[in-house]
Amino acid sequence: MRVVAERSIFPSDVARANVPTVNVIVPVADHVAAAADLVRRYRELPPDVRVRLGKPSSNLFRFGAPPPTLDASGLSGVIAVDPAARTADVAGMTTYEDLVDATLPHGLMPLVVPQLKTITLGGAVAGLGIESTSFRHGLPHESVRRMEILTGAGEVVTATPDGEHADLYRGFPNSYGTLGYALRLVIDLQPVAPYVRVHHRRYPDATACTAAIVELSSTEIDFLDGTVFDAGEQYLTTGEFVEALPPGVTASDYTGQQIFYRSLQRREVDHLTVRDYLWRWDTDWFWCSRALGVQHPVVRRLWPRRHRRSDVYRRIVALDRRYGFSDRLNTLRGRSIEEPVVQDVEIPARNLPAFLEAFHRDIGISPVWLCPLRLRAAPEQDRGQPWTLYPMRPGELYVNVGFWSSVPQRPGEPDAHNRRIEQLVTDLDGHKSLYSSVHYTEGEFWKLYNGPAYRALKQRYDPRGRLPDLYSKVAGQTGR
Ligand SMILES: Cc1cc2nc3c(=O)[nH]c(=O)nc-3n(C[C@H](O)[C@H](O)[C@H](O)COP(=O)(O)OP(=O)(O)OC[C@H]3O[C@@H](n4cnc5c(N)ncnc54)[C@H](O)[C@@H]3O)c2cc1C
Repeated sequence: MRVVAERSIFPSDVARANVPTVNVIVPVADHVAAAADLVRRYRELPPDVRVRLGKPSSNLFRFGAPPPTLDASGLSGVIAVDPAARTADVAGMTTYEDLVDATLPHGLMPLVVPQLKTITLGGAVAGLGIESTSFRHGLPHESVRRMEILTGAGEVVTATPDGEHADLYRGFPNSYGTLGYALRLVIDLQPVAPYVRVHHRRYPDATACTAAIVELSSTEIDFLDGTVFDAGEQYLTTGEFVEALPPGVTASDYTGQQIFYRSLQRREVDHLTVRDYLWRWDTDWFWCSRALGVQHPVVRRLWPRRHRRSDVYRRIVALDRRYGFSDRLNTLRGRSIEEPVVQDVEIPARNLPAFLEAFHRDIGISPVWLCPLRLRAAPEQDRGQPWTLYPMRPGELYVNVGFWSSVPQRPGEPDAHNRRIEQLVTDLDGHKSLYSSVHYTEGEFWKLYNGPAYRALKQRYDPRGRLPDLYSKVAGQTGR
């Protein structure tokens, strides 16, 4: 049974903050029973069956995986929010949409809320996540206090920063479900105010934009991200919590006819409810809904509001990839086949201008999303790399660069643009997320993602290889 999140520390503001009343709290006994059931079904799977996680949604950009063999949809819901300790106890497959709906009534939110509503807490920790608070709070896995994990060996262990399974705690981020599945997590929360005042500033080139990122990321703002329309038109957007709207100002609504990313070019200052701020990029999947026609005023009016969401668009793209409609249409029209280029990469801020210059010249996709991040772990806490499988340096300011589109394929070189990006990322001392296509050779991959440490973790937590190996999962294009 699920019950309604019912307590609020600022009830009158909740309505203004546009938090719907939804069933997101799951009683602990129900969660424990669902987890025990999942563990039992995992252990009963015949050894020759490849384990594939089944969830109602996914934000991976690898399509065509065979059907799942382990349904985990029961492991969803927020078990408890503790306003005094500022923590949430959450089932592993809970979406951030549900998580935020459970915490906002308490005047709290997770330290980092990835932009897409159906990204789950377990998915963001096992597969990395980022948002405009990452310049201060790092990545979602850095605010996990403890995780209950079903390992590949079929055991349930509790991983904490310093306990017996600290190696799994540090090696779980970027393992993509190849060491085990997070069943339950306790995470830190931070206080919110009902509104976010956003300020869009324009920069004429990447050097000026990078200098501003460095400067703004050391100020007291609450949020920072950016959008590059082309080499001469780049915006940084800062956000600050505010308790009330200025007199005569109403909060903007970008879930209707207006489109958030277009507002950057039209206005300098804006106000959104905290909930609308958190999901500002979901309504149009950043700008990717454009390819489906949803930004055309007529189509937009006809497209039901409840379907203006990233998970709806992703399902449409998945169908297209499965049946190859767009490729066939391009062939019929005599156009070239497109190479999908959907990637998020982390570049040290000092190398951002060089990356963007090469990107505009060699790839040419726009817009591009920028999101500064600095690991939460302080340099003095760094005993080697804090996060084993995604080796970033504590203290260094990185900028996540996200681009999600396609470009005409080069004849005979179907992966040329993706390979170029991988080379550029390596040359500029960056890292690439693994949620989309991966084109490294196995040797290159393990040099970049700490092969020796991964093999030790695999040996300890999945010695019989029930779960796939990370390289074969992410480079095979079909892994879930
Ligand atoms: C266009 C696009 C834009 C994106 N932009 C952003 C962005 O701006 N910010 C951001 O944070 N992310 C972004 N992502 C990436 C997204 O966060 C990752 O793909 C994330 O891993 C998806 O989480 P999910 O819950 O949907 O997991 P899924 O897609 O279902 O799974 C991701 C992987 O994690 C594994 N997994 C899922 N749940 C668990 C669990 N409980 N325990 C262990 N392993 C598990 C799965 O086996 C799978 O390998 C973007 C992706 C796309 C396609």
